[in-house]
Amino acid sequence: MSTADIGLIGLAVMGSNLALNIAEKGYTIAVHNRSPWRIDEFVAEAKAEGLDGKTVPKYDPAEFVQAVKAPRSIIIMVKAGKPVDEMIEQLLPLLEKGDAIIECGNSLFTDTQRRFDYLTPKGIGYLGVGVSGGEEGARHGPSIMVGGSKEQWHNAEAVLTTIAAKFNGESCCAYLGEGGAGHFVKTIHNGIEYGDMQMIAEVYGVMRDGPGMSPGECADVFKEWNKGPLNSYLIEITGHVLAAVDGDTGKPLVELILDKAGQKGTGVWSAIAAQQMGVPATAIEGAVAARSISSRKEERVAAEAIYGKRSAGKADVTLADLEKALLAGKIVSYAQGFAVIAKASEENGWNLPLATIAKIWRAGCIIRSRFLDQMSAAYEKGGNVNLLVVPNFVTLMKDAHPSLRKVVAAAAVGEFPMICLSAALSYFDSYRQARGTANLIRWSARFLWCAWLRDCRPWDRSARYVAFDAG
Ligand code: NDP
Repeated sequence: MSTADIGLIGLAVMGSNLALNIAEKGYTIAVHNRSPWRIDEFVAEAKAEGLDGKTVPKYDPAEFVQAVKAPRSIIIMVKAGKPVDEMIEQLLPLLEKGDAIIECGNSLFTDTQRRFDYLTPKGIGYLGVGVSGGEEGARHGPSIMVGGSKEQWHNAEAVLTTIAAKFNGESCCAYLGEGGAGHFVKTIHNGIEYGDMQMIAEVYGVMRDGPGMSPGECADVFKEWNKGPLNSYLIEITGHVLAAVDGDTGKPLVELILDKAGQKGTGVWSAIAAQQMGVPATAIEGAVAARSISSRKEERVAAEAIYGKRSAGKADVTLADLEKALLAGKIVSYAQGFAVIAKASEENGWNLPLATIAKIWRAGCIIRSRFLDQMSAAYEKGGNVNLLVVPNFVTLMKDAHPSLRKVVAAAAVGEFPMICLSAALSYFDSYRQARGTANLIRWSARFLWCAWLRDCRPWDRSARYVAFDAG
């Protein structure tokens, strides 16, 4: 008998927490997982939380599908990539027209678009949904970015909007557009997250290696900053992370962690998407590059042996400068991220609502911040323009960019790496420069072309002069 309001396959970290969240909100959920032991574990967990009455565990895929009321909404939360395609093929013969697959992993948006195009003619809805907030968010309220089949979205709308995080009572879940729109927005969210984290790390580097502040002292600074315009989840957890002490050694935990960061793919996908569409996203690109450099630990050690350590010395900046530099860098990074989203919207005909996107990022997700509330208001008033020309942000930027300039300059002189903040500053300076220097590039490019003609077509020697007519 079909008793469940919704179904979910994939009971690893994200899936099990999302399922418990759904059950806790009063919906009955059928669950399934390829490996049966995970189902057993989930059953025990649900029981421990008093939610067993709202969960319907099924070990057989056909029985699982039958347990969900039609038209069915089936969430799949399995490893991104091939497993998603395998899962779709497994489900397809079990579903009926009007049912929907809701894929909530970190999928590449072009994969989501392909799956949407494959399933739509078969009468099966396909929703590609970005879920942000990690394990904690999945359990207690993530930010949910929905894309895909609009008709079937309405079948799952009540559940998804209910389980999402709330900001001032508003759900941080929204339908954004067709096909791969939801996963695209989630990808850029992650790219922006990379930028935020990298800029925070760069500022921490100046505090640590300049005046030699201890992790505890840095933690206090971040905790203080979290009360001001930088107020955000990432600044908050940076304060906690820097304050953490290892129980065994009594040393600050951050100093026991290897300085190598990997990347899961979404940061790179953001940078690639931006480049492919011709939208500059230098902060995201810088953040991805910084992680790549960090992962080359052995090469860095060898290079330091060749060039020597950074010359000792402080960066000639105040903590107030660092705070404002971080704010300016963040504004530039978000301006770039939203410009990428606006361009993708135009190219794919998604009609993505920028104000709504800023709104659903205000709570639940990793980049949640006070700043996003201002951004959603700005986009509501101003339409899809670059954030750098939206009046409120112009005021903030005019106040903060001199500090960014000061910090980047001091970092350059003091030999502090600042790949992301300096990229943000260069973008800002290029963006606001009415008279640029690309005239030289165009002229040179023409000259090279003409030189090539001259060398390859010796019978047409006059071609060499064309360059001088270029104007
Ligand atoms: P994993 O990405 O580790 O995936 C594990 C789950 O996928 C298990 O349920 C596993 O089943 C299932 N699976 C793997 N291969 C197959 C297959 N071929 N057929 C059927 N099932 C398969 O789980 P997470 O919970 O960490 O993440 C789920 C998704 O959410 C991923 O796309 C991830 O990128 C995304 N995400 C994760 C976040 C996080 O913080 N972890 C945050 C936001 C998004 P089995 O038990 O049988 O191995």
